[in-house]
Amino acid sequence: MSVYNAYLSLSGSLGVEAVRDERLAHRTSYRIGGPAALSVTAHTYPALAHAVEVLDREQVGWVVLGRGTNVLVSDKGYDGCVIRLGREFSRISFEDGGQVSAGGSVLLSKLVNECQSNGLSGLEPCVGIPGTVGGAISMDAGTRDEWIGRHVASVVTFRPGKGLVRYEANDIEWGYRYTSIPAGEIVLEASFCLSDRDPKEIAEDMEQRLSRRRRKQPMGKPTCGSVFRNPPGGSAGSLVELCGLKGYAVGGAQVSDTHANFVVNNGGATANDVLLVLQKMHADVMERHGVNLLPEVKFLGFD
Ligand SMILES: Cc1cc2nc3c(=O)[nH]c(=O)nc-3n(C[C@H](O)[C@H](O)[C@H](O)COP(=O)(O)OP(=O)(O)OC[C@H]3O[C@@H](n4cnc5c(N)ncnc54)[C@H](O)[C@@H]3O)c2cc1C
Repeated sequence: MSVYNAYLSLSGSLGVEAVRDERLAHRTSYRIGGPAALSVTAHTYPALAHAVEVLDREQVGWVVLGRGTNVLVSDKGYDGCVIRLGREFSRISFEDGGQVSAGGSVLLSKLVNECQSNGLSGLEPCVGIPGTVGGAISMDAGTRDEWIGRHVASVVTFRPGKGLVRYEANDIEWGYRYTSIPAGEIVLEASFCLSDRDPKEIAEDMEQRLSRRRRKQPMGKPTCGSVFRNPPGGSAGSLVELCGLKGYAVGGAQVSDTHANFVVNNGGATANDVLLVLQKMHADVMERHGVNLLPEVKFLGFD
């Protein structure tokens, strides 16, 4: 594999920004993580297709990153390429009949706010969720019972080796933090089918949801949101709390005092600190409750 060759090929390419050894701590909500050997921002679809072709030819592993709000990057970093979607994928367009389309790099908060201003209802459960539309589709982000996938009319992805793929709503299965869109595909755009509602009512609904978040979740400290998925019929946070782990810390990483399914970076936490805290949470819940918690956070650069 030659990251260097890939960098040389891509750094002069139209619509591509290529950077070597970018610290991913600056690109994740955790503020943790070593460098990516290569970072590529693709501003257009041809640039993206070209970048993936070059990376595959040079046998450089790659992963798509949105805003990095659900990722823990290892302290040594990632020896492959992090791909981000740029300008062409940052548009929102409103069509007739409650239809709105958003590119994969659009901030979810921007989409939610614009839908509110336009009196379009459906995405209220996504208020307060950071990250991009691409990340939200790939994670089927939302609350425990309400997911973004429920309002999706269609999704366009890039499938390496094939090209553009368009899924209609019925082609995709959605579930709690699950979508049947294959993991190797890059979400370029999603269209949503929303219903009419008074913008003022939407704003009130969103405000209530935000204040619930402020009450129940740690604010102001770097996190990645919930670290474990809720087990069927249960709550990962409650199981961890029953193990007496609220406040449990290793180095700068700590189980939040406010919500036991959040691990916060108190400043200077390493990825290894977070990992040790996650392992303790997992082991204690398994021992005490016999429940095998599955991670919601994605790991990058770990062996
Ligand atoms: C304070 C806080 C609160 C949160 N609350 C919630 C919540 O209530 N509900 C919830 O569901 N999540 C929540 N999260 C987690 C996170 O915000 C969501 O999972 C979000 O959708 C991730 O988007 P992102 O752009 O940051 O994706 P990233 O973190 O960058 O990536 C996450 C995953 O998506 C993949 N991905 C990203 N973009 C694309 C793309 N274009 N195509 C294909 N795959 C892609 C990545 O490869 C990775 O596997 C919270 C996080 C924080 C920090």
